[in-house]
Order: sequence, then structure tokens, then C-alpha cells
Amino acid sequence: MLRILAASFVLISTSLLAEGVIDVTAIDVAVNADHTRVVFELSAPVDHRVFSLKDPERVVIDLTGARMNASMPPATGAVAAVRSGKRETGLRIVLDLAVAGVRPRSVMLPPLESGGHRLVVDLVNADSNPVATVVAPPVRRDVLVAIDPGHGGQDPGAVGAKGTYEKNVVMEIARRLKAQVDAQPGMRAILTRDSDSFISHRERMRRAREQRADFFISIHADAFNDKRVRGSSVYALSTRGATSEAAHWLAERENAADLIGGVKLDDKDEMLASVLLDLSQTASISASLKAGSMILTELAKVNQIRRRSVQQANFLVLKSPDIPSVLVETAFISNSEEEKRLRDPAYQDKLAHAILRGIQAYFADYAPPGTLLAKARSDTRTSLR
Ligand SMILES: [Zn+2]
Repeated sequence: MLRILAASFVLISTSLLAEGVIDVTAIDVAVNADHTRVVFELSAPVDHRVFSLKDPERVVIDLTGARMNASMPPATGAVAAVRSGKRETGLRIVLDLAVAGVRPRSVMLPPLESGGHRLVVDLVNADSNPVATVVAPPVRRDVLVAIDPGHGGQDPGAVGAKGTYEKNVVMEIARRLKAQVDAQPGMRAILTRDSDSFISHRERMRRAREQRADFFISIHADAFNDKRVRGSSVYALSTRGATSEAAHWLAERENAADLIGGVKLDDKDEMLASVLLDLSQTASISASLKAGSMILTELAKVNQIRRRSVQQANFLVLKSPDIPSVLVETAFISNSEEEKRLRDPAYQDKLAHAILRGIQAYFADYAPPGTLLAKARSDTRTSLR
């Protein structure tokens, strides 16, 4: 939730950029076992130079053609203070050090998630010996996938010619998908319904939000008058549907306060709140489209594809502003061949597995910070030297 909002702020500031100027949009300082890491979020890659000075101990970072558009972080770890000033060639940032003898090392990282370019400067403790350092393993959480079996109770969904109810086959697929997700290291799943009961769309969203789901996937089976029509499709929310929904969420102050990462809206400008919510939803839709296309790629291996790209529609159940959400129409229950397959446990497993693979592909690129999957990714991709 917070990550999406932070990325949105970057979007605002870069859109206001004068041409050719590189903005430093945020500065983060984090303490690690043998180093303090300073991360500068940038609107574009930057030529930079990093060097140390003594009396007093400090590290100087010169960024060519850059300007400061971020607030200074508080003293953290080896960093006693951060200052910045204009230079003829751009921007100079000075890190005043709280300890002597740290060695700086730096690397530019291209955008990995929804964020922008980053300059990472590590201040390595002089006496650190990475081999000997005992690092307490930080607690990392599993990514949580909310699986939503469509319909239920008095709402059977679509009904096939042989009397197959959509609500029943999607429940079978959803249960299989949950078991498969739960079997993956670093992943866990919940079902928004686990019985044949009617649950409103808002209640389904609420259950996912309450559990702090990282991803929401609604499972359905399609139907059409023309019995020949067949194949899988994947949907994400349309931007138009999102706009009116933002107003609804804003109206529910409780929900809205929750959305901005616990920041109470009462003391915020209504306009700001609506902008934040809009940006959060826009980021969620873009994430949903990415995830949806990965799921579609996997579904193409087990079924015909009805539409090549992720479709966008105004489905209420996809409208959580801060959880990437997709809806999968697994197959057409109105097509006799697909109805038969939808009832087949082996094929239900196949469909579930394809969806699992799609979700895994998505999290391989966009694992939320603080999760085991994000750790696994950063271990392989962003090691500094
Ligand atoms: Zn349905």
C-alpha cells in the first residue's frame, strides 16, 4: 500500500520536470548489519561522483544536472545529517557522518518495480568483516493472495447445458489454486468464500483488505448465447470505473483513512486525499494489467485464449484502490466441450496451475517490500558488487 503511494509521488514530481533537469525526489536511509544504505530516488539516471572528506568526517555526492526536490531524512545509522547545495554543474549532497572511517560505495539502479531510477550509496563500516558479521535474520512475510470464487448461494452464476453451475466449478478451481499457492515457499492464500453462500462484492473486497492481501484474483466461468464461443479471458478494472469508485471510497472515511497507510484524512485536505487515492488506484490498475497479462500467457498453455490482451471493464469486485486485482474467466460454461473440461478435476488442476504460474511470474518482478519473495529477488538482482 505504502509502496504504491510512494511511487505515485514520484510520478507527480517527474511530470512537473523542466526538460533536462534530474530531480532527487526522495532520500531514504536504512541501517544494515555492516553498512548504512542511503537511497536517492531520481527522475532519471544521473552522472555522479562520490568521495570522502575528513575533519569533520563526511561523504560528498556530486550529481550532474540534478536538483533537490526531497526532504532531508533524520539522523540514522552512520548518517548524522544530510545537507545539499547548488553547484555550477548540478547538485552537491553532503552526508555528515556520525562515525569515523566509513567507506562509501555507490551504484545506479534502473527502475525495478513501479519506482524510478535510484542511486544507492552504501556507507560501509570500517571494521566490518562481512564474513564474520552475524546478521540476525529479519522477519519476512509471505505474499498473500486473496482468491475469490465467483457467485455462490442463491447466485449460481452461469449454468451449462448439462446443469453445471459456475459457482461450483469456480469453487473447485479456487480451492485447488489455494492449495497450490500454499505449497509455494513465500506464498499464502485465502478464499473470500469457502462455502456455497452468497457474499456481496464489497464484502469480498473487505475480506481481502482485512487480511492485507497483496493480490486479488476473482475466478469465474463465462457464458454466451452463441454456444461455439470458447476460450479464457482476463480482466482488470477500467480507469473510468476507477474514477467513480474513488469518490465512493472517499465517502467512507474509515476506508479512506486506512488507504493512505494509516494517515488520518480528517486533518488532510480533501483534494489531496482524492489525488492520493486516484494515484494509488492508477498504480494498482497498471500492476493488475501486468499481472493479468502474465496469467493470460500461462492460460494460453492450457486453453484457447478468447482475447489476446487483458480486457478492462467496470467490475466492482476489482475496485480495491490499493490491491492489484484481476478477474479470470477460465472458460465458457456455455460451450459443451469447455463445460465438460470445467467439471474435470484434472483440468481444474491445470487451470489453477496456470493461474499460479502467472501470479508467480508477477511476484518475481513485483514482490512487495518486506516479503520473502522480495528478499529472494533482491538477493539475486541488486547485490552491490
Ligand atoms: Zn461469473
